[in-house]
Amino acid sequence: MSGADAAPETFREVERKLRVHALYRLPDLTALASAGIAEALPGPSLALDATYYDTGDLRLARGRATLRRRKGGGDDGWHLKLPSDDGAAGARDEIRLPLDDSDSPPEALLQLVLGITRGTAVEPVATLHTERRPIDLVAADGLHSSIRRACTLDAPPARHPRFGLRRHYRIAPWTDLVEVYWSLGAEAYVTPVADDLVGVAVLGASSGDFDSRLAAFPALRERLAAAEPVGGVRGAGPLRQNVRHRVCASVLLVGDASGYIDALTGEGISVSLAQAAALVECLQAGRVADYEYAWRRVSRKSRLLTTGLLWSRHSSLLAPRIVPAAQYLPRLFTSIVNHVAAA
Ligand SMILES: Cc1cc2nc3c(=O)[nH]c(=O)nc-3n(C[C@H](O)[C@H](O)[C@H](O)COP(=O)(O)OP(=O)(O)OC[C@H]3O[C@@H](n4cnc5c(N)ncnc54)[C@H](O)[C@@H]3O)c2cc1C
Repeated sequence: MSGADAAPETFREVERKLRVHALYRLPDLTALASAGIAEALPGPSLALDATYYDTGDLRLARGRATLRRRKGGGDDGWHLKLPSDDGAAGARDEIRLPLDDSDSPPEALLQLVLGITRGTAVEPVATLHTERRPIDLVAADGLHSSIRRACTLDAPPARHPRFGLRRHYRIAPWTDLVEVYWSLGAEAYVTPVADDLVGVAVLGASSGDFDSRLAAFPALRERLAAAEPVGGVRGAGPLRQNVRHRVCASVLLVGDASGYIDALTGEGISVSLAQAAALVECLQAGRVADYEYAWRRVSRKSRLLTTGLLWSRHSSLLAPRIVPAAQYLPRLFTSIVNHVAAA
């Protein structure tokens, strides 16, 4: 398809230029404690050739617009950058059309800058040959990933936010299984941690401190009545984090940072590890762009099961029937639990 008939693609670019001296060397990014960077992996070096077009008296440059024909770097094409009016400093909209055989900019892009060029013809004014050495950043900084926020990958928040609180108790576990208690709007999960220690996590939409939430589970509260709490209460939430994409230029999100639904199926670590394995595979194969698909593939089963269970949890018809159904259909319940464990 030629540049003339192709549909343009538009990207919002927020460019931050950092000026460094000639002897500057990139520091070890993983050593920057506050950056939350787990890995900084140098990718293959890319050769970019770009020819910039402008009027003889550089009207586009003066109007903060850029028109170029670029090859190399994975985004070959005609690129027109125009100042955006969204208020972000340095924000520009980049409109891209595919390359064609012509050396003349596509008419569609020239029309967009007519107000700046005022009909004056544009011509090549500069050609740049650049070597780019991108570094892939793997962001694994958890549920409220600041890297995800910086990359503006957050999607709108959940309609029914849920939160989790957990505390440990000094008491011998009374079972070697994870025990789950359900109340009307919350669940409590008891995990044997050591010979004399259990972890209790309470999940739900309600507000309030740990003790008031525990009150929704009288049988459990009674069991823990004489047990000494160990350490403080740790909280997390809102649990659901909707994320638009896992890949943003050279930044790849993994684990809770890449999106999370809920802890009610008692998993998260296994899915995060599966995502990490998929990510490493994509990086090793030099196929960063494939990670989104790979992430969806390894996360699908767990996300479907968790979404389904959460949906039932919020349904006034189904929620009170989940535990009785599990009691009545133990094989089905076991099979679902096994699927979750294997997801
Ligand atoms: C109440 C509750 C119970 C759960 N129970 C289970 C369970 O039983 N089994 C299970 O498999 N999963 C469970 N999960 C889910 C599981 O905890 C997560 O899915 C898993 O921890 C995700 O791992 P992660 O490495 O992506 O994120 P995290 O474990 O959150 O790790 C992110 C790390 O990044 C660090 N970090 C963040 N920002 C920065 C920064 N700027 N600089 C440096 N470091 C930074 C954080 O300190 C943290 O150490 C539960 C979750 C909750 C909320």
